[in-house]
Amino acid sequence: MAKKQFKAESKRLLEMMINSIYSQKEIFLRELISNASDAIDKIYYKALTDDSLSFEKDSYYIKITPNKEARTLTITDTGIGMTKEELESNLGTIAKSGSLAFKNENEMRDGQDIIGQFGVGFYSAFMVADQVSVVTKALGSEEAYLWESKGVDGYTIKTCEKEDIGTEITLKIKENSEDDSYDDYLEEYRLKTIIKKYSDFIRYPIKMDVSSTEGNNKDSEEVTEEVINSMVPIWRKNKSELTDEDYENFYQEKHYGFDKPLKHIHISVDGAVRFQSILYIPEQMPYDYYTKEFEKGLELYSSGVLIMEKCADLLPDYFSFVKGLVDSEDLSLNISREILQHDRQLQLIAKNIKKKIKSQLISLLKEDREKYEKFYQSFGRQLKYGVYSDFGKDKDILEDLLLFYSSKEKKLVTLEEYVSNMKEDQKYIFYASGENNERIEKLPQTELVAEKGYEILYFTDEVDEFAIKMLMSYKDKQFKSVSSGDLGLEDDIDKDVESDSEEYKELFNHMKEILSGKVKDVKISKRLKSHPVCLTTEGEVSIEMEKILQAMPDNQNIKADKVLEINSTHVVFQALIEAFESDQDKLNLYTNLLYNQALLIEGLPIQDPVEFTNDMWKLMA
Ligand code: ADP
Ligand code: MG
Repeated sequence: MAKKQFKAESKRLLEMMINSIYSQKEIFLRELISNASDAIDKIYYKALTDDSLSFEKDSYYIKITPNKEARTLTITDTGIGMTKEELESNLGTIAKSGSLAFKNENEMRDGQDIIGQFGVGFYSAFMVADQVSVVTKALGSEEAYLWESKGVDGYTIKTCEKEDIGTEITLKIKENSEDDSYDDYLEEYRLKTIIKKYSDFIRYPIKMDVSSTEGNNKDSEEVTEEVINSMVPIWRKNKSELTDEDYENFYQEKHYGFDKPLKHIHISVDGAVRFQSILYIPEQMPYDYYTKEFEKGLELYSSGVLIMEKCADLLPDYFSFVKGLVDSEDLSLNISREILQHDRQLQLIAKNIKKKIKSQLISLLKEDREKYEKFYQSFGRQLKYGVYSDFGKDKDILEDLLLFYSSKEKKLVTLEEYVSNMKEDQKYIFYASGENNERIEKLPQTELVAEKGYEILYFTDEVDEFAIKMLMSYKDKQFKSVSSGDLGLEDDIDKDVESDSEEYKELFNHMKEILSGKVKDVKISKRLKSHPVCLTTEGEVSIEMEKILQAMPDNQNIKADKVLEINSTHVVFQALIEAFESDQDKLNLYTNLLYNQALLIEGLPIQDPVEFTNDMWKLMA
């Protein structure tokens, strides 16, 4: 019989498992038990929608059998089993190949790190075994199959005998090495401890034959079958009975993420609708989070039975990063799944959960700023999308969760903090947009606002300005871009500017003509202090928004109404006046140069770079 090769990615994972220096090899048992439990869930789930199947809870279990003589450990389940094709695709390749997005070879070598990062699954068996065999018979199938592998050089599948539906996985446990005692995994006591630690909440009995010595008489050793796990799902337990570690273990067992959760939320509601829920706020962003592939949702259980793996309706998009489950006895199950999604109970639960997540995030923000900022780093952008989406429907829920970098504090601040730090004469919440903080810091437009001692929020995410446009104001203070036409600052320099403007009207009209189609206006700047020029905008569309809109696939060529502002106290202004009075060509040259410089400052492309460089050397010649 021909040996089959593992798919490339699986092979790499397998290699890592075999050579693993991972200290917690014991988690292989958690993985195999979880798989067994999932397989039983699948039968349970099928029985719900298929009347020809009845689910007798008692006949479903997981059994762990160590055999010291043969050096084997067997995990048996009465789950749904696998067909030949399923064996091939599930154990020959990694199911969630995305979880193996190795970043580089170094990380590969440093196996320890990676293993901690993703749910290791079936292959973790190879951390403790040098041979693994799987005997399985699928529900509805006559044939049983044996899958066997000694590791990287491939696997075989052949038919075999098996009476009952389900799966039996046998590990040939490795010989002890200098560093590791694999004997441990054949010891009843040790196995019991591992099961208790990681799999106590598995809802099906995990059985094991345990020998007990009656009194002191060694001869009367008896073997009895014991159920090792408590079987009470963690969410049904009392919060006070559970430790942080319990919640973390459950998070790992469920493969909710490859990280440690930042926070867990345990909800138990006994009101108009009854439900229990455990929710997690992950620390790290899933690799596909901001892609179309990412699917949000919570696991939905009805009285302890999993009925939906990803119930999207339980989470608003802006909290799509939340992982966890909901269990309710109030869901009507005989109705089809589709109706269930519009179930009134479900909506009540969703509403409740939304509130809870918000309040927990607020308390995280208040109590552990560092953790919150970590969270915000990963998911802040999603919150801002939330402010913006559905025409700002939920902006009130989200506004207090936002953070922006502050020009004054040099760190992230909340809007609340900003407003409470506003100067007495300050009317607006000022912001500046740009690619990153360093660039914004240097924007000429910020000069006047900064000089007045006002704090400026830096917007570096594409969504920021769009979100703020939707928010409009916070605590009755309106947002104002430092680049907007009217800064709303009552200033003593205003008068000067006005008389200057009158005096140089002709010059500006001329420049406007030279730049026709490019800018809407040319005028003297009130906001510039040391820089000669800048671009500002009139109307709703800012320059940053223009950039984003232009980058969209179906862009409607929406442009900002730009205004070229000139600093009348700067030396270049004198040069402009002289050129205007004596040399048309020079005025042309200067105007174009200044305009292009203003574009560069904004990070906008210059329409004709060759012409721009020609203009530069003309100036030098
Ligand atoms: P995951 O559980 O995250 O999908 P695993 O590597 O643990 O990844 O398992 C791969 C797949 O193999 C599972 O998704 C499941 O389809 C199948 N499988 C593993 N163990 C069993 C089992 N005991 N019974 C039925 N199917 C199983
Ligand atoms: Mg698994």
